[in-house]
Parts: sequence; C-alpha cells; structure tokens
Amino acid sequence: KNLQLPEDKTILKDKVILVTGAGDGIGRQAALTFAKYGATVILLGKTVKKLESIYDEIVELGAPQPAIIPLDMKGATVKNYQDMALTIIDQFGRLDGLLNNASILNSLNPIEHINEETFDKVMKVNFKATFFLTQSLIPALKLSKSPSVLFTSSSVGKQGRAFWGEYAFSKFATEGLMQTMADEYEHIGMRVNAINPGATKTRMRAKAYPGEDANKLKTPEQIMPAYLHLMSDESIGICGQSIDL
Ligand code: NDP
Repeated sequence: KNLQLPEDKTILKDKVILVTGAGDGIGRQAALTFAKYGATVILLGKTVKKLESIYDEIVELGAPQPAIIPLDMKGATVKNYQDMALTIIDQFGRLDGLLNNASILNSLNPIEHINEETFDKVMKVNFKATFFLTQSLIPALKLSKSPSVLFTSSSVGKQGRAFWGEYAFSKFATEGLMQTMADEYEHIGMRVNAINPGATKTRMRAKAYPGEDANKLKTPEQIMPAYLHLMSDESIGICGQSIDL
C-alpha cells in the first residue's frame, strides 16, 4: 500500500508480460507502466483501436516494442488461447508475467433478476476465459526464471454485497482459482497472487457509482507501485496472497 514508484527504471528489463484488458482503465496504465520499466508487453483486449493507441504510446516512449493480441474473451475458445500461447513461446521464448485484469460489470441487480444470459457472459469473461487463458499460458510461464501471475479481485470477491450478483460470484471464483493455483505451482517458483485495486477512477467504477465525484478517487497511476512490485523480482517469495490496495 505504501510503496512508491521505484527509481530503478530497469526492474522489468527483459521481462515479457501479458496484460488482459490492456486498452483501458487499470490495464492500460499497467501496460504502460510495465513498458516504462523495461518490459516487453503483450497487449490483449477487445477493442483494437484502444490497443493501437496504447501500442503507439509505448513505442513513442522508446520502450521495448509491444505486441497486440485483439481477442474478445467472451467469444474466444480454449483453442484460441492455446494457439496464442504457442505463438508467444515461438516469438518471445517464454512468458514472465501475466496480469489477468480484463473484467466486465453487468448492471447491479437483485439476485431474483439475474438472468442466464448475463450470468453466462460475466462468468465467461471474468472467470472461465481467465482460467483457460491462464491454463494455456502455464507452459510459457514455466519457461521463465521467476514467473508471476496476478489475478484481479475485488472487495466483493471476499465479502458478498447485495446487488453485485454475478460480478461478485466471478471474483469469489477468481480468489479460489488463485489459491488453488498458488498451492499447485509455488514449489516450482511461480508466484500466483490476487490484487484488489480498490475504488479507482475508471469507466467500470463510473458505471457502478454514477453519482459519485470521480475526482475524489485514486487514479490507475497511483496504484501502479503495487502492480510493479508484484510483477518484478522484488516480490519473489510472495505467493498465494490476496492483496487489498
Ligand atoms: P475498465 O472497464 O476500465 O477496463 C476493463 C478492461 O477489460 C478494458 O480494457 C476492456 O476492453 C477489457 N475487457 C472487457 N471485456 C473484455 C472482453 N470480452 N475481452 C477482452 N477484454 C475485455 O475496468 P477497470 O480498469 O476499472 O478494471 C480493471 C480490473 O480491476 C477488473 O478486473 C475489475 O473487476 C477490477 N476492479 C476495479 C475496480 C475499480 O474501482 N475500478 C475496483 C475493484 C476491482 P474494452 O475497453 O475494449 O471493452
């Protein structure tokens, strides 16, 4: 929580890091920050224009050339993820970091109003797709010296809250996935953790709380020290944690 941005701009040098939902909000800022600290970032997201914009920004910085993977996690298949993983091994030789950040929030609803369509959509993007993407990337992560996998949770992934419905269920499931994977892979030196960014000024937050003064919220930029820490080798030894910012 009290971390500062590190002065050493090379802490992610030579690392290859994939960020899901890299086109907007926290994922966009994370991709930009990882690149600024030396990483080659693989930008995965739904809206190609947004990915191209962050790609250009990273290239203008003079950071390592990123890669773009346009993929809608709602429609993508396990085969798509497996092919993607093979391409990553082919092009980069390994994957050092995976930030599972992409998620959607459907409208807030009482339990009795949740329908199968939105249930499936939210669980697919936030949980099922995140799982199979991660599973497919395990061989690439195993080729790294100190791989780090970071899932994105939420306060409603730890304590249920009225009307947060399938979004909350998906985040509880994410916590379970993180714990199971951490227990299974810690012994080979893979760090698996979850981060709950807390109230942060993004499109998703504005959708959930349309009436609040967004300027009172922390910005994605302000939470980057923790993301950087967990992706860099400074966090070696941290595994199985669910970290609230
Ligand atoms: P945003 O809505 O700003 O960004 C979400 C990102 O996910 C976008 O880049 C979006 O791409 C991408 N995405 C959505 N659907 C898909 C899909 N089907 N396939 C691929 N990518 C997709 O959200 P935040 O930045 O606020 O949230 C980031 C993470 O932090 C999420 O996991 C969220 O649950 C979590 N979180 C956020 C909090 C907050 O206060 N902001 C609080 C607690 C948790 P596109 O723009 O192209 O649709």
